[in-house]
Amino acid sequence: MERAGSALTDDEQCVVCGSPMDEYHQTSCQMCGGKFHQPWDTDAQVPQCGSITSHEEALALVFLCTNCVQAIQET
Ligand SMILES: [Zn+2]
Ligand SMILES: [Zn+2]
Repeated sequence: MERAGSALTDDEQCVVCGSPMDEYHQTSCQMCGGKFHQPWDTDAQVPQCGSITSHEEALALVFLCTNCVQAIQET
Protein backbone atom coordinates (compact mmCIF):
# COMPACT_ATOMS: atom_id res chain seq x y z
CA MET A 1 0.00 0.00 0.00
CA GLU A 2 1.83 3.06 -1.19
CA ARG A 3 0.44 6.50 -1.40
CA ALA A 4 1.28 8.59 -4.40
CA GLY A 5 2.11 12.21 -3.99
CA SER A 6 4.76 11.97 -1.29
CA ALA A 7 7.67 11.68 -3.70
CA LEU A 8 8.59 15.31 -3.25
CA THR A 9 9.41 14.86 0.37
CA ASP A 10 12.63 13.24 1.44
CA ASP A 11 11.08 11.42 4.32
CA GLU A 12 13.07 8.40 5.20
CA GLN A 13 11.39 5.06 5.16
CA CYS A 14 11.35 2.53 7.92
CA VAL A 15 13.63 -0.43 7.16
CA VAL A 16 11.11 -2.76 8.77
CA CYS A 17 7.73 -1.81 7.36
CA GLY A 18 8.77 0.52 4.54
CA SER A 19 6.47 3.32 5.59
CA PRO A 20 7.68 6.90 5.83
CA MET A 21 8.76 8.15 9.20
CA ASP A 22 8.49 11.56 10.73
CA GLU A 23 11.58 13.23 12.12
CA TYR A 24 10.82 12.55 15.70
CA HIS A 25 9.41 9.10 16.16
CA GLN A 26 12.30 7.08 14.83
CA THR A 27 15.63 5.69 15.88
CA SER A 28 18.52 3.77 14.37
CA CYS A 29 19.22 0.08 14.66
CA GLN A 30 22.50 -0.72 16.35
CA MET A 31 23.08 -3.73 14.14
CA CYS A 32 22.16 -2.74 10.61
CA GLY A 33 22.11 1.01 11.06
CA GLY A 34 18.71 1.27 9.47
CA LYS A 35 16.15 3.69 10.76
CA PHE A 36 12.85 2.44 12.01
CA HIS A 37 9.70 3.58 13.76
CA GLN A 38 10.03 4.18 17.46
CA PRO A 39 7.13 5.98 19.12
CA TRP A 40 8.50 8.15 21.90
CA ASP A 41 5.06 9.15 23.10
CA THR A 42 2.53 6.60 24.18
CA ASP A 43 -0.15 8.38 22.18
CA ALA A 44 1.89 8.68 19.02
CA GLN A 45 0.29 7.26 15.92
CA VAL A 46 3.44 5.38 15.05
CA PRO A 47 4.04 1.66 14.87
CA GLN A 48 6.85 0.18 16.92
CA CYS A 49 9.16 -1.52 14.46
CA GLY A 50 11.93 -2.49 16.82
CA SER A 51 12.85 -3.31 20.36
CA ILE A 52 14.99 -1.97 23.13
CA THR A 53 17.44 -4.67 24.06
CA SER A 54 20.20 -4.83 26.59
CA HIS A 55 23.61 -5.31 25.06
CA GLU A 56 25.80 -7.53 27.22
CA GLU A 57 29.13 -6.24 25.96
CA ALA A 58 28.22 -2.60 25.88
CA LEU A 59 26.32 -2.81 29.15
CA ALA A 60 23.81 -0.48 27.68
CA LEU A 61 20.40 -0.46 26.17
CA VAL A 62 20.45 -0.55 22.43
CA PHE A 63 17.77 -0.31 19.79
CA LEU A 64 17.32 -3.08 17.30
CA CYS A 65 14.92 -3.17 14.42
CA THR A 66 12.51 -6.06 14.19
CA ASN A 67 14.49 -7.54 11.31
CA CYS A 68 17.60 -7.85 13.44
CA VAL A 69 15.72 -9.03 16.50
CA GLN A 70 14.35 -11.89 14.44
CA ALA A 71 17.79 -12.61 13.01
CA ILE A 72 19.21 -12.88 16.51
CA GLN A 73 16.44 -15.11 17.70
CA GLU A 74 16.92 -17.49 14.82
CA THR A 75 20.54 -18.13 15.67
ZN1 LIG B 1 8.08 0.84 10.61
ZN1 LIG C 1 18.49 -3.76 12.17
